[in-house]
Amino acid sequence: MEKIVSLCKRRGFIFQSAEIYGGLNGCWDYGPLGAELKRNLKEYWWRCNVQERDDVVGMDGSILTHNSVLVASGHVGGFSDPMCDCLLTKERLRADQVPAQSGTAFWYTGAKSKDGSWSVEKEFAVLVASEEAARDARKTAAKFYVQLAAAGVSAADLELQGERAEAVTDSVRFNPANGSLLTEPREFNLMFKTKIGATSDENDPSAIGWLRPETAQSIFCQYKNILDSSRMKIPFGIAQIGKSFRNEINPRNFTFRSREFEQMEIEYFCRAEDGLKLTDEWLERRLCFYENIGIPREKIHILDVPDGERAFYSKKTYDLEYEFPFGIQELEGIAYRTDYDLGSHQTGSGKSMEYFDEESRERFIPHVVEPSAGCDRTVLAVICEAFDEEELGKDGKSDVRTVMRFHPRMAPIKAAVFPLLKKNEEQVRIAKEIVKELKPWMPVFYDEAGAVGRRYRRQDEVGTPFCITVDFDTLGENGEENKDTVTIRHRDSMEQERVPVKDVLHWLIKRIH
Ligand code: ATP
Repeated sequence: MEKIVSLCKRRGFIFQSAEIYGGLNGCWDYGPLGAELKRNLKEYWWRCNVQERDDVVGMDGSILTHNSVLVASGHVGGFSDPMCDCLLTKERLRADQVPAQSGTAFWYTGAKSKDGSWSVEKEFAVLVASEEAARDARKTAAKFYVQLAAAGVSAADLELQGERAEAVTDSVRFNPANGSLLTEPREFNLMFKTKIGATSDENDPSAIGWLRPETAQSIFCQYKNILDSSRMKIPFGIAQIGKSFRNEINPRNFTFRSREFEQMEIEYFCRAEDGLKLTDEWLERRLCFYENIGIPREKIHILDVPDGERAFYSKKTYDLEYEFPFGIQELEGIAYRTDYDLGSHQTGSGKSMEYFDEESRERFIPHVVEPSAGCDRTVLAVICEAFDEEELGKDGKSDVRTVMRFHPRMAPIKAAVFPLLKKNEEQVRIAKEIVKELKPWMPVFYDEAGAVGRRYRRQDEVGTPFCITVDFDTLGENGEENKDTVTIRHRDSMEQERVPVKDVLHWLIKRIH
């Protein structure tokens, strides 16, 4: 993962937000290549899910969200994660990030000084566990002593004080792997709250606004307007791509868990009897999508979320998980959410959310299937999947080629164009003309600096699938056969072929669309 993070910075894919001020934890900025990659992903998702379908329309809702929307949806009351504090390091973790505990520790305040008196100046902890577990707990205490030593308590003191200490203030979870002590979990709401309006009264609930924690709620709130204005008939979907915000307790794994991120969500409205079948259909469609952006099916794990672990209103949920270098983790959730969302907003707003079926003359609240994908997580998966280091060395000499094997459709730069020799005016002229022709259609990069082999390697490292070289053959200097053709070098195989200059644009479009 370190190599990937460093390439992302070095080549301008992803930077830490506000890095010059020490960084803003959980926030990331996409550089020139990262921005292109992310746009490619969003545009392809939109094309597959909106443009190419008759039954899905798009929307683009506001990020600032009305308090009542998130009260009705249940987020204000319950959008939280269980959080633990480490009493030694002061670190905060989501409860599921805490490795399984072994043994119980008790947290004491107080320290015994050399003259035998107790003071409360120092805090220290003693592992006592239960009587039976005490022996095991002592074994694991070695690492724990290291932490205590860092906190200024010696192992000898600990033994001495452990027998005598009395003031148990809290029971905590002990993690023998790193010696941390963690409080029992408590709920922490993940939403970012703000005040709307210049004259807002601190306590006026109508001035409370939230940064949306998901894009879905604006779709549910606008479902009636969209239905009325677009005359869609059930089953139909509303798609949205946009920013969401969650005050994650512990952002980690590069962009995987961020505080500001983009989602790509579809709410697909249907009849109750079709919900389960449509959930399976969406699962299949979404797997195809990942294949089409270069993530093979065998790298995606489908978790059929069991009863008891799904949201209470969901009758079926699949999590699509990808094998990231840091573990198998969720990319997308596909949930059959029944009529919970529209029902909640009908109750919350007092406005009817019913659908009227003109053929059967029935009125009902539609059910919904939601494929909800993370844009930044998918970009990260595409980057991880593309990263490769290929050994090309010969005769015992090591030569490692770093190559990003992006699907051409995702690649930030589609083609690089080179004159073989920078000093050859005719080669430069033709190369620049090719660039000019391609530019309105795709991002292309012109490079004339250094040996051509090195120029290829620079493009390999950013995943440019095709390099076009204008050489002496193009000028007809080696005979008529290859006159007015260029060399196109394929990034993955490194094979080369000759293509007439006049066909280059169409040759490329066929391969990158
Ligand atoms: P997780 O369990 O990883 O926190 P979640 O189940 O809460 O995710 P959902 O609420 O289902 O996530 O959101 C849908 C998608 O949005 C996720 O599958 C993920 O791709 C993306 N997502 C959610 N939270 C984050 C985050 N903090 N950073 C980046 N992407 C996120």
